[in-house]
Amino acid sequence: MSQYDELIGLLNQKGFHAEFFENAASAKEAVLKLLSGAQSVGIGGSVTLNETGIFDAVVATGKEIYSQVLERQKENPDVKTIWRNAMNADVYLTSTNALTQQGDLINIDGNGNRAAAMFFGPDKVIVVCGVNKVTKGPHDAIARIKKEACPKNARRLGLDTPCAKTGKCEECTGQRMCNVTVRIQYPPKGKDIHILLINENLGY
Ligand code: SF4
Repeated sequence: MSQYDELIGLLNQKGFHAEFFENAASAKEAVLKLLSGAQSVGIGGSVTLNETGIFDAVVATGKEIYSQVLERQKENPDVKTIWRNAMNADVYLTSTNALTQQGDLINIDGNGNRAAAMFFGPDKVIVVCGVNKVTKGPHDAIARIKKEACPKNARRLGLDTPCAKTGKCEECTGQRMCNVTVRIQYPPKGKDIHILLINENLGY
């Protein structure tokens, strides 16, 4: 029994495939199992996937990987092609910016590729999320993302946004990283969205 039983139950009732894991190691095993039949995997940029070791473990499987993180390590990266290929992979693997107690996945993207892949990309999506990202409702989720995730992500990615400098959202209008906000309330038809909630603080 955990305090997240109700949320897991609600997510499954809504048609997601949700499971609770006590630690990242057991979630990693579950991800690898879910990927066993896949030949190609699109991976969204995610600190959670790095911290859990899931990113490295998936890359080590030798499957075809579409990841902008890997692409950017090349001399002449073609990130747009990677985003498009990830949309057509067998599985899309990502974290989420927030998971609400109402059973919604909330994400804010700069380019929209990750959010789009979650609802209009591969038929199978795996979402890995630490309990620190659980919020009450969508408004709290957006507030949390702008307070916790955006400033840290902007710094991590070397973006020239006001939040990278001040550590808080300034509701900027220029080169912002918050261009697309997506709320997935129920899995779109024909889509298997697996949500692996881990009892650890992961990512931001
Ligand atoms: S709106 Fe601008 S300042 Fe606010 S979190 Fe987004 S990028 Fe940062």
